[in-house]
Amino acid sequence: MAGTMPLEEYWRKRRFGVTAEPRGKAPKKARKRALRFVVQKHRASRLHYDFRLEWEGVLLSWAVPKGPSLDPSVKRLAMMTEDHPLEYAKFEGIIPAGEYGGGTVMVWDEGTWVPDDPDVAAKLKRGDLKFTLKGKKLTGSWVLVRTRRRGEPDDGRQWLLIKHRDDAASTRDVAEEEPRSVKTNRILAEIAFDEGGDVQHAAEADPETAIRQVIANPKTKRRTRKKTPSVWRSNRSA
Ligand code: MN
Repeated sequence: MAGTMPLEEYWRKRRFGVTAEPRGKAPKKARKRALRFVVQKHRASRLHYDFRLEWEGVLLSWAVPKGPSLDPSVKRLAMMTEDHPLEYAKFEGIIPAGEYGGGTVMVWDEGTWVPDDPDVAAKLKRGDLKFTLKGKKLTGSWVLVRTRRRGEPDDGRQWLLIKHRDDAASTRDVAEEEPRSVKTNRILAEIAFDEGGDVQHAAEADPETAIRQVIANPKTKRRTRKKTPSVWRSNRSA
């Protein structure tokens, strides 16, 4: 969101001849359809969940080390990162070791989002963005609030991701209970295996129960989901 040209920082950090991540295009004029969101589980040097909201032709992005929580009493640190191109929402695969963010990426959740207040720019500036998610795993009302950590410089990039109290709130551990890709139904280890990544490194971020399922039944647990999520298809014409 901040900065000069859209996607400049995103392009600067990556070598597109080396990584399979999309280069993406500069944003065009806003289209009249529902806004997308995606959460990518990213096993880099450290595991985190990249929480991305489509806005003005790019994906506003926050890295959430512990992932989203459905429990309204739990505040999850969300570090704002550079805007990503819209095409990035589809990216699932391997970023080569040694490249920026090297590791395994999974499309952990996706769907559409609606800001409570249409003036998103003002809310981002104020550091208080309330919105509703319509995803496969994450739904209902949420807020991103800018914060500051004691003893650290305030660069405006530290936010908290918090679930509001509503019917979608819960104390169940959604990251642990639903560890698979919403695109391909794979766990991280399977993505790494299929696409030539570091399986051991990826598997360290999969729940043990999911790994045991794969070992017990390697053929039937995979790719049972539709390739194009209906939640996106139904919103394209909206
Ligand atoms: Mn990341």
